[in-house]
Amino acid sequence: MKAIIIGAGMGGLCAGIALQRIGHEVAVYERVREIRPVGAALSLWSNGVKCLNFLGLEAQVRALGGQMDSMAYVEGHSGRTMTAFDLAPVYETAGQRAYPVARAELQNMLMDACGRENITLGAELVEVWEDESQVHARFADGSVASGDYLIGADGAHSLVRSYVLGEKLPRDYSGYVNFNGLVAIDPAIAPADRWTTFVADGKRASVMPVADGRFYFFFDVPGPAGQTVERADFKDTLRQHFADFAAPVQRLIDAIEPERTNRVEIFDITPFHTWTRGRVALLGDAAHNTSPDIGQGGCMAMEDAVVLGIALQVNTLGVQDALIRYQNRRAPRAGELVLRARRRAAETHGFDMAETQAWYDGLWTEDGSRIMRGLLSNIEGNPLD
Ligand code: FAD
Repeated sequence: MKAIIIGAGMGGLCAGIALQRIGHEVAVYERVREIRPVGAALSLWSNGVKCLNFLGLEAQVRALGGQMDSMAYVEGHSGRTMTAFDLAPVYETAGQRAYPVARAELQNMLMDACGRENITLGAELVEVWEDESQVHARFADGSVASGDYLIGADGAHSLVRSYVLGEKLPRDYSGYVNFNGLVAIDPAIAPADRWTTFVADGKRASVMPVADGRFYFFFDVPGPAGQTVERADFKDTLRQHFADFAAPVQRLIDAIEPERTNRVEIFDITPFHTWTRGRVALLGDAAHNTSPDIGQGGCMAMEDAVVLGIALQVNTLGVQDALIRYQNRRAPRAGELVLRARRRAAETHGFDMAETQAWYDGLWTEDGSRIMRGLLSNIEGNPLD
C-alpha cells in the first residue's frame, strides 16, 4: 500500500510515522521549503503524548518536554494568586504527564522519525483526482504522484478539504489575537515549574515551561481581525494592552524578542463530519480547525494519526471502508473539542464581560478540582485510554 500525505506539519508527520509502522509506503509532500511553525511552542496534553509514545517516540518527546508540575491563575492587575494547585492528579488519572514543547524541536523530531527521505519539500498540491484503483496528486511544478490513498494533512486552509467536501468552508474569527514566543525562565515572572496565567479585562498573559530553561509565553488580546501590526511594534502594542497589569507581566514583555515572536489572529471552523471521499481522507487541522483555547488541536491531529493507522491495519474490506471507519471514530470527538474550545474562548475573553467576570470570581474559590476535571474531560475519550 502506498500513502500520499499532503502537509508535513505535526499531523502529516505523525500520520507518516503511523502508516510506516503498519508497513505502508509513505510519501509526504510539503508546500514550503523550510517549515516555520506559526507558534513558538504548544502544550501536548497526556492524550497527545500517549499518541507519540504509541508511535515509538516516548524518549524523544520526554526530552523535549518542560517540567510543568503545577498551574495557577493570577489576577492580572494586582498580581495576587487566585488559585494554584498541583497537576499530579491529572497526570496520575491520565497515566501520562503533559509536555509543553517548543514547536521547532517537535517538528524536527517528527521529521527525523518519519524519515527525511520520505518528505518532499517545496511541493505544493494544486489538484487531486481519482480513478478506479488509485488517487493522484498534481503539484505546482506539474509533477504528479499516485498512491492507493491520500491523506490531506494540509492544515487550516486545506485544499484537500475542498476536494472532499466539494466546497470551501468559511473560517470563523474567534475574536482575539494571540502573541507567542519563548523567553528564558525567570522566577520574577512566575515559578519555573508552573503554568501561570495572568487574567483581567478579558486578556491573558501566560507562561509555561519547555525544556532547556525556557518559558513558552502567550498573550491573548481581544479585538477585531484584519489589523496590521509591524513586528517592530509588537512590544509597544503589548505594553499598551497590558499597561495596568502587574510587574511580572511588564517584566515578561521586556524580555520578549519581537523578531522571534508570532502574532496570530485566531480562527476556527464549525465542525463537519465528512472527512473522507473515496481514497482521500482529512487529518489534523484540515479536518478540525480549532481555536487553541483548550490546547488540543495538535493533540487531536496525533490522535487522528493513531486511529488512522489502526483503521488501515485491522480492517480488510478495502481502503475506502477503513477511511470511513477512521472518520466515524474521529469526527464526533474532534468536533466536540472544537466546540468546547469555542465556548471557552467566549468565556475567557470578555465577549460578555459578565460571563468572564463570573469565571474570574470562581477562580478565587477554586481548589483546582474543577479545572482539573475540565482538563481530564478533554484528555479522556482518547483512543489510547
Ligand atoms: P499544520 O501544522 O498547519 O500543517 C499543515 C502543513 O500543510 C503546513 O506545513 C503547510 O505548509 C502544508 N500545506 C498546506 N497546503 C499545502 C498544499 N497545497 N500542498 C502541500 N502542502 C501544503 N495544539 C495543541 O495540541 N496544543 C496547544 O497548546 C496548541 N496551541 C496553539 C496555539 C496557537 C496560537 C495556535 C494557532 C494553535 C495551537 N494549537 C495547539 C493547534 C496546533 O497548532 C494545530 O492543531 C496543529 O499545528 C495542526 O497540525 P496540522 O499538521 O494538521 O496542520
